[in-house]
Amino acid sequence: MLTVELYAIISSEKTVLEFLQKNKLLPQNNETNLCHKCHGETKMYMRKKRLATGEIREISTIRCITKGCQTYKSIRSTNGFFTYTDLNARCNSNLSLGQILELINYWSQDLPIKTVSDLTGRSNATIVDWFNLCRDVCCLLFEKREKMGGQNIVVQIDESLLRGRRKYNRGRLLLGDLRHEQVQDNSADFHSDSDQENQINLANSPTSNRNYGRRLEEPWIFGLCSKIGDNLERRFFVVEKRDRETLIPIIKKEILPGSIIMSDEWRAYSCYKNIGYDHRTVNHSKNFVDPTTGAHTQAIECSWGVLKTKILRKMHGTSAEMLPRHLIEAWYRSINRQDTIFFKFLSDVQKVYCQT
Ligand SMILES: [Zn+2]
Repeated sequence: MLTVELYAIISSEKTVLEFLQKNKLLPQNNETNLCHKCHGETKMYMRKKRLATGEIREISTIRCITKGCQTYKSIRSTNGFFTYTDLNARCNSNLSLGQILELINYWSQDLPIKTVSDLTGRSNATIVDWFNLCRDVCCLLFEKREKMGGQNIVVQIDESLLRGRRKYNRGRLLLGDLRHEQVQDNSADFHSDSDQENQINLANSPTSNRNYGRRLEEPWIFGLCSKIGDNLERRFFVVEKRDRETLIPIIKKEILPGSIIMSDEWRAYSCYKNIGYDHRTVNHSKNFVDPTTGAHTQAIECSWGVLKTKILRKMHGTSAEMLPRHLIEAWYRSINRQDTIFFKFLSDVQKVYCQT
């Protein structure tokens, strides 16, 4: 949605209410909302409330019409997304529905917290809270994800360190672009997969960034990607090791049998043929696209740079435990188009919070 359109909507509580009702996030005026106390009939009206700041805010309210009861509650309490309680079990309802919608819109545009704070005047803490809540929705949807791929559909896989250099420390370079010793280093690297001695040498060498299954401080991220429609679905998982024992369960869980898995020749990737996949590899020391199988892993490899920059920026000053949630957010963005994600997100909120 265009920002001007959004501001037209959030200019009054009435238009926000209409917008949210139209998107089925709040009940219609004529819908029966029985009183939560006496189960009598209710009516909707605008209640004026003076905030601590002196500002008078209109709040859409559902009020019981039974004499002697007249209990009322805010209409937003019918949707858990708008009335979430924070970790201290306090209901965070400082924001009006319009202000919440504004934050959702900026979240959907993937703007940094600082920018959103400058645009809206909301505090960092408030924005972080609501962005976390948006991420919750992504996580709930991710739990319900289906397997990717399918008969003859390509799924590319690759793994990368969150921090640190690319696995092969280069992009689509010709060997001639590298210094002589780099070429030697790299080719030793590529062919070392089954060679114990080489592994140890490389692991000890100061220029090596490979860990061959040892645990590192920085996590490895295992990535899978596959085209769905116009989007390239990308899933990322934090893995402590990148050995077969770790990767095979993920592959089995995420990829439909019969899919074509494309990977580089990393040894943990061997033998996926045995577990029901057509597995094609590309040897990066020779080609980026295998001339016989057509295998390449460009799509997933290109994803790493953007992913890392964004995630490290977003996670600045937050705990590493948040990493999986940020990876899930990246997945959600990969399956949605930037220009429609706002409405898609609202319909997902509706799915998650309004359908029981
Ligand atoms: Zn009542």
